[in-house]
This record gives sequence, C-alpha cells and structure tokens, in this order.
Amino acid sequence: MRDIAIQIAYIVSAGIFIMGIKMLGSATTARRGNRLSAIGMLLAVIITLFDQGIVSAGIQGYAWIAGGIALGALIGGILAKRVQMTGMPEMVALLNGFGGLASLLVAWAEYATLPALGLIPVSGEMRFTLVVSALTVIVGGITFTGSLVAYLKLSGKMSGRPFLFAGQKAINFVVMLVLAAATVALALALKDYSATAFYTLIGGAFLLGVLGVIPIGGGDMPVVISLLNSLSGVAASFAGFIIGNTVLIVAGCLVGASGLILTVIMCKAMNRTIGNVLFGGFGAAASGSGGAAEQGEMKAVSTEDAYYILEAARSVVVIPGYGMAVAQAQHVVKELGELLENNGAEIRYAIHPVAGRMPGHMNVLLAEADVPYEQLVEMDNINPIMPTVDVAIVIGANDVVNPAAATDPSSPIYGMPIINAHEAKTVFALKRGKGTGFSGLENKLFFMPNTRMIYGDAKATVADLVSQMKG
Ligand code: NAP
Repeated sequence: MRDIAIQIAYIVSAGIFIMGIKMLGSATTARRGNRLSAIGMLLAVIITLFDQGIVSAGIQGYAWIAGGIALGALIGGILAKRVQMTGMPEMVALLNGFGGLASLLVAWAEYATLPALGLIPVSGEMRFTLVVSALTVIVGGITFTGSLVAYLKLSGKMSGRPFLFAGQKAINFVVMLVLAAATVALALALKDYSATAFYTLIGGAFLLGVLGVIPIGGGDMPVVISLLNSLSGVAASFAGFIIGNTVLIVAGCLVGASGLILTVIMCKAMNRTIGNVLFGGFGAAASGSGGAAEQGEMKAVSTEDAYYILEAARSVVVIPGYGMAVAQAQHVVKELGELLENNGAEIRYAIHPVAGRMPGHMNVLLAEADVPYEQLVEMDNINPIMPTVDVAIVIGANDVVNPAAATDPSSPIYGMPIINAHEAKTVFALKRGKGTGFSGLENKLFFMPNTRMIYGDAKATVADLVSQMKG
C-alpha cells in the first residue's frame, strides 16, 4: 500500500513537472511554469525522503539534508537574483555542470554500497547497476568538466578562442577507448580490477569533458551549453535507473530531449551541424572580412537627420541583436516604438532565432520591457514584407542581418537564414563603431546605399531619438 502511494505521488510530481515545462513555451506563462516545475521537483525530493531506507541515520540524517537544501536554495537564490541577462548562459553552464556532478556522485555512492565484487556471485541486477553506473559517471563527468570550461570561457576567466593542438582528435579517441574498456571491465565485475576501472572512468570522463570543450570558440558556447544541458539530463536519467527512481528518469529524459531539440534548432538557425560546432574550431580563423572584400564606405547620419526620416515613416521594423542586450536598450526601444506608433507608423520587432547570445534572448528582453507580444514577428513572417518597409532600425544586430549569408557563397556564414533588413527602403544601423559581430565578419549591409550608420551606444542613441521625437 505504502509503495503504491509512493509511486502515485511520483507520477503526480512528474505530471506537475511536465505541465511546468509546457508552460515555459509562452512568455506569458513561463514564470508560472518555472515555479510549477520547481514545486514538482520539491515534491519528488520530499517523497524520496519519506521512501523507506533513504535516511537510515534517523532525524539527524534529515537535519543534514534540510541543511543542504537550505544552503543550496540560498546560494542559488542569490546567484539567480544577481545574474545579468547577458550572464545567463554562464549561470546555466554552472547549473548543468553541477547537475552532471550530482548524477556522478549518485553512481559513486551506489557503487560504494555494492558488496565486495568477486566475493559473491554477480547477479544480473548487479551487473545492470554496474553498467548504468559506468554510463552515469561518463556522461556526468563529461558534463561537469565540460560545463566548467564553458563557464570559464564565457565569463572571460580563460580565453574564449578555440584551443586547438596537433593530435587533439586522436587523444580524444584514445580516451574514449579507455572509457569503453573500463566500462567492460566494470561490467565483468572482476575482483581485483573493478575499483581501478571505476576510478579510471571518473578520471577519463573529467578529461574528456575538458578536451571536448576547449577546441570550441567562445561564441559557439551557447550551443555547447545546450548540448551539455541535454547531457546533464541524460546523466540524471541514468542515475534514476541506478536507484530505481521514476521521477528522476522522467525528468532526466525531458531535460535530455529538450536540450537536444534546442541544440538542433540553434545549429539549424546558424546553418551549422552539431559536428561542425563541436569539431570545427569556428572563430579560430574567422576574422576580418572573410568572403568577398567589402566595397564602398559606411555613411553616418546624425540622430537629428534620422528623426526626420523616422517621423515620415509609415512602417518601421526594429531588428534587435546582441548589442541591444549589451546596452540594455530594450526599455528605450519600447518607448521609441510607442512614439512612432502614436505618430501613425506601424511598428514591428523582427526576431531572428539566434540574435543575441542565447535562444529567445530578444524575446526575453522585449518581454521584460513590456513590448506587446503581437508586435514580435518571426524571421520567416517578416521577410516577405521587408520590401514594403519604410525604415528598418537595426539595433546592435550584425550577423543576423548580413546579406552575405544569402548572396556570397565564399562567406563562412553562407546559408545562414537572415532577416532581410537590406530590402527596406531605408536602414538605420545603430552600433558603437566598426566592430564585427560574433562571426568576426564584415557586413555588406553597412556599406549599402540605403543604409545609414548611427554610431554610439545603442541605449544612448535610441534615447536621443526618443527625445527628438518628443520634440
Ligand atoms: P552580433 O553579430 O554578435 O553583432 C552584435 C553587434 O552589436 C556588434 O557588431 C557590435 O558592434 C554591436 N554592439 C555591441 N555592443 C553594443 C552597444 N553597447 N551598443 C550598440 N551596438 C553594440 O549579434 P547578432 O546580430 O545578434 O548575432 C548573433 C550572433 O551570435 C550570430 O552570429 C549567432 O549565430 C551567434 N550565436 C547566437 C546564439 C543564440 O542562441 N542567440 C548562440 C550561439 C551563437 P560595435 O562593436 O561596432 O558596437
């Protein structure tokens, strides 16, 4: 009876978790969805604690666990409150890494409780536990050190450039062979070699995590973080099999699958393959123009002159990018949008799937500024109407509006879908100077006859335009 009640409670908590994840799909319900998922997880933790045999040390054991939860919640709460939007990928990297480490520790703890190998006959169930423990250690270990390297690269604590050296792939291959051999040795449950095999797995997985992420360029790190997020889910799911915990298996599978889907979406939006991201060393060579050399000059315009054109515009499309996030210009951008609307213009915000540095980056910023959701238009829907648009205001975006991606087969970003800003009658490009974007490439758009550059920090420039509009 007690067992059935516990299983039902697990299913309820898994259901809450799934509903919470579903709610993350819309900006209006995402906050509630996040809270609901957290409640589902807390419920699962509490049920697990009441499950028999979890805490053998009586009330003192619970005190340690309660202390751990309180401390973890405090550290997590402070970090989440303090993190800047642009620092989100770093924080997610750390969370993934610790998720992977937690799964590894579950496998280690379970291994430590097994009866001494070689002294008793190995049951099928025990062999299963050994193999799944090996897989958990491999995936969890890679996730842990890979995520730490990703964190260090993104936070600038180590160089964000791809670190490539001769024989890198061969070394990775050898480490993978060692991991496979150690898994087999553990599965055979040999008396004298099991401990060596287990600790080899831990060391090898840690090494592979580092080796796998150092050759990846800092700008590709969001894709890698999404992949590591998926791996942390897979590790959790394996850990669920080890301890026979249904909710951990379900939650791990959900995280694993959703992380993988996100990784594929990001790769598609950049017209890259996962293999190219992981092994391509993108950013190691890409600098300067790449592709055909740019012709002509960039023409600058003052905010006063831009104002006259904007005032006459009937249809305006704002194309935000990474620079808007850096400048935290979303609130003034919304104010400018409202003034243009009051002036009779139709205003839309064109959202590229990989604008900024993380999926949904622009949606989150614009939602934070309360830009009406109906004004946000996806790339595929805005492109057909771009030729009818009077003014496209490109705010800190670069790669996502680079026409070379569509027209120049020699460009490294050729094939990446873009927002066709260049088709608008007039383009205002707001950026600080002549800096390139994430890909390190020059942008043909800035040299086109219908483009005018407005130099300066995006927030200051838009604030200037707002005060011009207000007269
Ligand atoms: P971008 O190509 O990185 O360009 C950003 C531009 O913003 C720069 O050219 C920079 O020029 C300007 N800028 C920086 N700070 C600014 C400020 N304070 N005020 C005004 N301008 C500023 O950005 P994007 O067009 O959004 O493209 C995103 C890139 O990231 C794509 O290549 C994408 O593939 C990549 N990526 C995205 C994701 C994702 O999930 N979103 C993941 C991985 C990779 P100045 O220095 O001259 O100001």
